[in-house]
Amino acid sequence: MPELPEVETVSQGIKSKLLNQKIDEVLVKRRDLRFRMDPKLEQKILNTKINDVSRRAKYVLMHLNNGLTIIIHLGMSGRIAIENLTSNEKKFKHTHLEIFTSNKKKMKFIDPRRFGSVLLCETKSLDKHRLIKDLAPEPLTKKFNKTYLFDALKRRSADIKSIIMNQFIVVGVGNIYASESLYKAQIKPNRSANSLSSDECDKLVKSIKKVLKRSIKLGGSSINDYSLVDGNLGFFQREFEVYGKEGKFCRKKTCHSKILRIVIAQRSSFYCNKCQK
Ligand SMILES: [Zn+2]
Repeated sequence: MPELPEVETVSQGIKSKLLNQKIDEVLVKRRDLRFRMDPKLEQKILNTKINDVSRRAKYVLMHLNNGLTIIIHLGMSGRIAIENLTSNEKKFKHTHLEIFTSNKKKMKFIDPRRFGSVLLCETKSLDKHRLIKDLAPEPLTKKFNKTYLFDALKRRSADIKSIIMNQFIVVGVGNIYASESLYKAQIKPNRSANSLSSDECDKLVKSIKKVLKRSIKLGGSSINDYSLVDGNLGFFQREFEVYGKEGKFCRKKTCHSKILRIVIAQRSSFYCNKCQK
C-alpha cells in the first residue's frame, strides 16, 4: 500500500509534468472504484487547466482553474503513470481513467484491486469534504511537534506503534515508516503510549519527520508495485533498518542483537530488543 512518501512523490511527479496544462480529452473506462466516479467527470474537467497539485494525507489533489479539485486515492494497489503521447505506449491492464493534456502527455490511473478512487470536490470546500475534514495534522508540519504528541498520548494506553499509525492523531505514518521511526527513536513498538516521556516524544517526532523526508527524497519505497509517475522506482527500501529484517543483525555496530518481529494490531512490527527501550 502506498504510504505518505510514495503519495507525495506521485503528487510532485504530476506537478512537474502537468502543471499549467489544459485537459484536452478525458476517457473513463470504469467508474466503480472504491467510491463511484462522478458520471459527469469528463464534462466537468474537460478544457480546464491544472493550476496546482498538492497532497493531504494520502490524497493527491489536482486543483483546476474552474474551482474544482480532483481527489485521487491510490488505495491498496493504485498507481499513476504519465507518458508522452509520442512515445510507444505501454499497455497497462486495469487502467480506469486517462487524461490527455495540452503538452501531449497522457496521465493514467491504474488500479487492479479497485480500492482507490477518483473524486471531484469544489476547491473552496475541500476542508469540509468527508474524506478530508477529520484528518489529523500532517507529520511534516510544525503542528506535529513534541507538545502535540505528548498531549495526544497522555490518556492512551495502546501501544505506541498503533498510536502513531492512527490517522486521527497524525496522518500518513504507515506500517513501514512506523517501524523505522521507532527504531531511530530507540522506542519499542509495543510500549504503552502514555509511558513515553516528553523527551521520547521529541525524539519520536524528529525521527518520523527524518524518515519520511529521506524517503520522499529517494522517491519512496518501491515494494508492492509502487513506482514513480514516469515508471522509475523509489529507493528508500534500500535504507530500511528494521522493516522486513527479521533475523538480521541490528545495524548499530556495537549492538550484535538480531532484529525481531512481533505482530501488533495484525501488522508485522520489526525492532531491536537491545537498542529500543
Ligand atoms: Zn540494536
